[in-house]
Amino acid sequence: MQVLDGIQKGNKMNHKNHHHTGLDKLFRYAEVLRFGDFHVKFDHKTGLRAIIAVHNLKLGPAIGGCRLIHYHSTDKAVEDALRLAYMMSFKSAISNLPHGGGKAVLMKPKEIKDRRAYFEAFGDFVNELGGRYITAMDSGTSEKDMDIIATRTPFVTCTSASGAGGDPSPQTALGVRRGIEACLQFKFNKNDLKDVHVAIQGVGHVGYYLAQELAARGARLTVCDVNEMNLQRCVKEFGAAVCPPENIYDVAADVFAPCALGAVLNLQTIKRLRVPIVAGSANNQLAHHHHGALMHERGILYAPDFVINAGGIIYVAAVYDHADQNQAFKQVEDIYFNIMQIFERSARENLPTNEIAEMMAIERLR
Ligand code: NAD
Repeated sequence: MQVLDGIQKGNKMNHKNHHHTGLDKLFRYAEVLRFGDFHVKFDHKTGLRAIIAVHNLKLGPAIGGCRLIHYHSTDKAVEDALRLAYMMSFKSAISNLPHGGGKAVLMKPKEIKDRRAYFEAFGDFVNELGGRYITAMDSGTSEKDMDIIATRTPFVTCTSASGAGGDPSPQTALGVRRGIEACLQFKFNKNDLKDVHVAIQGVGHVGYYLAQELAARGARLTVCDVNEMNLQRCVKEFGAAVCPPENIYDVAADVFAPCALGAVLNLQTIKRLRVPIVAGSANNQLAHHHHGALMHERGILYAPDFVINAGGIIYVAAVYDHADQNQAFKQVEDIYFNIMQIFERSARENLPTNEIAEMMAIERLR
């Protein structure tokens, strides 16, 4: 996103003259991204090193996943928490949720001796914030972990008691499929997926369900993954063709769907793309904000990530808010119209779709 690119450049420039400590960086980030608040907790009994970033509460209590992954440094973890919480504000705002953006980052220790005690300590931390932040599943955490957190705080969703299971991936995939349908309609005036060729990068949780959604509607699939088991599941169940991970950008298809990692759309990869549409679930797909403009110039229609991948959060927020589940499903299906609205405005104003989406979110946040 634009402001982040700005601050990264700024940091590089300042680096020559000053030595920035982690806290300097934190406040600089916070200022540019218009935070919000930032909380840290260390629990020596369990080894919990947790960060909760709350970006914006204008539209309601902040909601966002709890990530448990390994970080090389605290700086990296802080940066991740701030970037993700900021993005969650955009995601909630553009999806018309009564929530702000927040994120929890747990710095994974070498070993978690007692996972129950670890997540109890994290549950206490969430509870101390009194409902400013509602936590949910994310990379490295499970429904079971959410159940443990729920023994210490009501400010948690994705628990086993929350209805259709804790994993939001099927709803995320449904939203992505609807987004792809909007792309096809807008670009080719085509209103179905029959014989549409989609190249999917990463068939883990979301990628697998997306493959299922697409195959059921007659799409043709090429998939790649670094996990052989995940790949073979798609070959067997959907007759997908397989390509090596490093070649996925060269596949001539109708749609490229990044469903694995962030920053996959960069100068090198965009040059190689042989697709008219990019639409997938991964967070932070653009390595830099201006790569959206590059795709716009090349006539590649890009479905902004935080709009098309909001199905999961729409669904878990609805479960948390005790909203009507049918209404929530409809809202996920309506990602089609959110995407369409962005494309129409992008065409009218001749601006990249990611810039339009960010502008629309900011209009709601301020
Ligand atoms: P996941 O870990 O289950 O799946 C990712 C898959 O990508 C795995 O199968 C992994 O083996 C594969 N992969 C890793 N590196 C790869 C590479 N270099 N090339 C090809 N494949 C590679 O994660 P997920 O929950 O399916 O999420 C996928 C993406 O969507 C992530 O960026 C995530 O942040 C985003 N997202 C997920 C949800 C959700 O509901 N799960 C919601 C919003 C956004």
